[in-house]
Amino acid sequence: MQLYNSLSHKKEEFVPHEEGKVSMYTCGPTVYHYAHIGNLRSYIMEDVLEKYLRFTGYDVKRVMNITDVGHLTSDGDTGDDKMLKGAKREHKTVMEIAQFYTDAFFEDCRKLNIKKPDVVVPATTYIDEFIRVIESLMEKGYAYEAGGNIYFDTSKLDKYYVFNDFNEEDLAVGVREGVEADENKRNKADFVLWFTKSKFDDQELKWDSPWGIGYPGWHIECSCISMKNLGEYLDIHCGGIDNAFPHHTNEIAQSEAYLGHKWCNYWFHILHLNTNSGKMSKSKGEFLTVSLLEEKGYKPVVYRFFCLLSHYRKSLVFSWENLDNAVAAYNKLVEKIAPLTKENGGDIDKAEYDRLMGDFNEALSNDVNTAMGITVIYDVLKSKANAATKLALIAEFDKVLGLDLIANAKEIADNAGADSADIPAEVMELVEQRKAARKEKNFALADEIRDKIAALGYEVKETRQGTEINKL
Ligand code: AMP
Ligand code: ZN
Repeated sequence: MQLYNSLSHKKEEFVPHEEGKVSMYTCGPTVYHYAHIGNLRSYIMEDVLEKYLRFTGYDVKRVMNITDVGHLTSDGDTGDDKMLKGAKREHKTVMEIAQFYTDAFFEDCRKLNIKKPDVVVPATTYIDEFIRVIESLMEKGYAYEAGGNIYFDTSKLDKYYVFNDFNEEDLAVGVREGVEADENKRNKADFVLWFTKSKFDDQELKWDSPWGIGYPGWHIECSCISMKNLGEYLDIHCGGIDNAFPHHTNEIAQSEAYLGHKWCNYWFHILHLNTNSGKMSKSKGEFLTVSLLEEKGYKPVVYRFFCLLSHYRKSLVFSWENLDNAVAAYNKLVEKIAPLTKENGGDIDKAEYDRLMGDFNEALSNDVNTAMGITVIYDVLKSKANAATKLALIAEFDKVLGLDLIANAKEIADNAGADSADIPAEVMELVEQRKAARKEKNFALADEIRDKIAALGYEVKETRQGTEINKL
């Protein structure tokens, strides 16, 4: 499989450290609010990568942290504590909101068919491990104490700016974020491993440590949780592109300083979901959630389809119009699959199966090209293969794509049967006439026909999923 590696800035053949096995780490959510659909774009694309690796036979172990402590509003260790901010907003304790939003996150994932990682670790449950690694970094001379806090000394590294999109200019942290710079840092790229001098009087979560009572910095959690669960060599590390710097850069710095060798081979970064007014972000306060999509009548799986229509390495613009286009395409696709679910068996046409499966693999193994993968579904539908072959292929592809294609197609097929059986032909005829009138934008006629349908005891409604007919 070819994967783009943000570390080398090119597509590379993916070769895991241990044959047949893949260790995969994902930066989890900061649980001070609901995940927005931008965050979930990242998790959807990571889920496809994981599922495709499993599909091709790898034994994948995936680990995710839950950030419930240490993440400040600026990724450069300044600003407010995100969890405290969330707790104050809701007049709850930090642990209460952490639990609430962790549950909400996994509920959103479930709705989007995102598999829960094999291991999920809240940062607050690993404090002893963070302290152990920070102590080791102190002993090795990679960390220092200043103003009561423990910092990682980036000047001790041969190379700090590993994702070379970034340079010192970009790193004017205090200036860029419009918040204060930390005077304790020896070098401006240094970062906090452990805070003891909390600037927050009401710091709720704190633990004893060799350096005094305090709490961990944000970056150390991912290194420790990954190394503890996946060992010294990590195959793939994932996250949204905003995590590349400084978060992932700092993860590499501290992990490799601790281990004394290269840590992670492939970095998989997902570009952002933006709106026309810019990046979607939790800290801006206004953002779209899965629940909001549902309230507006969208099935969550259609948002997944919307994401899969674009490549993960391109930023994606969200608009209702774009989402509606995805809804229309999804519905059409499922409607095309529906009749196949009613056809009887037949033997698998092996040659066609292999050819189309080959095309699907070619798409997905080319840096997770999901849009091409979806195109192959249309090729399957157009192909000469029999229904059994088509259904078998689509069912296999959907193990990776997670679009509930067969289940939704079956539902349409079953309902179509029920409709024609239960609803009088006269009503069905009027429904068709009404559809035609609406298509021609003759709404007066459409209303007239709706009234005729009502007089026959039926109600007709246009929904995002199509026309609905109910007995009055
Ligand atoms: P957070 O909960 O802020 O720690 O972010 C969770 C994940 O979402 C991280 O992998 C981020 O890089 C990613 N992320 C944040 N904003 C966006 C966005 N607008 N589009 C896609 N991914 C994002
Ligand atoms: Zn992380």
